[in-house]
Amino acid sequence: MFNSTVLSAWPTWSSHPYDMVRQPIQYPFYHIAKDSLVPGLPDNVLAVLGPFLIYWAVSGIFALIDHVQMPFFEQYRIHEPEEVKSRNRVTPGQVFRMVLLQQAVQTVLGLWWLDESDPAEQTFRDHAADMNGYARVIVRAAFVLLGPKTATRFLTTYGAELTSWAYWWGVPMLQFFCAAVVMDAWQYMLHRSFHQNKFLYKHVHSVHHRLYVPYAYGALYNHPLEGFLLDTIGAVLSESAARMSTRQAVLFFCISTAKTVDDHCGLKLPFDPLQRLFNNNSDYHDIHHQFFGISSNFAQPFFISWDVICGTRLTREAAAARRKPRTDLRDPLIKAGLETNGHGNLTEQASKEQAQLKQAKEE
Ligand SMILES: [Zn+2]
Ligand SMILES: [Zn+2]
Repeated sequence: MFNSTVLSAWPTWSSHPYDMVRQPIQYPFYHIAKDSLVPGLPDNVLAVLGPFLIYWAVSGIFALIDHVQMPFFEQYRIHEPEEVKSRNRVTPGQVFRMVLLQQAVQTVLGLWWLDESDPAEQTFRDHAADMNGYARVIVRAAFVLLGPKTATRFLTTYGAELTSWAYWWGVPMLQFFCAAVVMDAWQYMLHRSFHQNKFLYKHVHSVHHRLYVPYAYGALYNHPLEGFLLDTIGAVLSESAARMSTRQAVLFFCISTAKTVDDHCGLKLPFDPLQRLFNNNSDYHDIHHQFFGISSNFAQPFFISWDVICGTRLTREAAAARRKPRTDLRDPLIKAGLETNGHGNLTEQASKEQAQLKQAKEE
């Protein structure tokens, strides 16, 4: 890879001629030059309290939608509302109390574990010095990838923009992705073990599966041990692996909490950004809450990759195909050769066919 021309033209940081870090530093819109995001509340305390507030704010919106039952939202409901009562093995009141208890434990643990370092120091750190470090890597990478001549032209024109973008956007986005990958791997491994080990399923994870028809604030309805292992330890691991700042952690924890609530909302919403962005969404996770899908779709909360890699992914279509032969004689829809849309509802074409069948019978 390296030849003598590249090596001889290789600049040391002190001597390279490119203006890679412009002064004064241009801050992105999200850089808030204050001691803390919420006045009087240190960012590390916000990292513990933020997810709790987000959980109930997002759950509150979905609870309101469930209560009002507007036709606009009802068309996207995965199960009939009555099924919440008839199929779930736990009452909404019990769910509410258990979630609060679990959150109380997590909050106390979180505050006890609180990072001792002053989060404000991260906000007011020497960004120019850090960007110089990024610039060194960019200069070296450009020389190796482009060669001395092109690298020189490229760095003179775009060097400063590239350094600034990498520092404020590129690396933070990579850190987010890394944290999501670590959290997914951790949760998949544990979640699948909870199903494969009969003792763990019976005494720990079966609590969450009392909800056959999930609703938003049931997202963290778990045995406290599961909440601690999956969520608390998962959060600490992913934040540390991605070397996130406290403010990055606040955002990551809030997004992953909102995502978990959204995955249990019971609505398949085509305009919901979280559901559009991720294949692992409320419809995907709902399959895992059903009898027929309980041995599939363990992946959570972000991607479906682990299910794909380990062969545990189940789609609505595959589930319907798998169930057909067994229900052939009993299912009047299949008997009549009518198609469903995967939620047990007739497709438009099948509805027409059913109406024609009915009419023919009457005649
Ligand atoms: Zn499960
Ligand atoms: Zn669930």
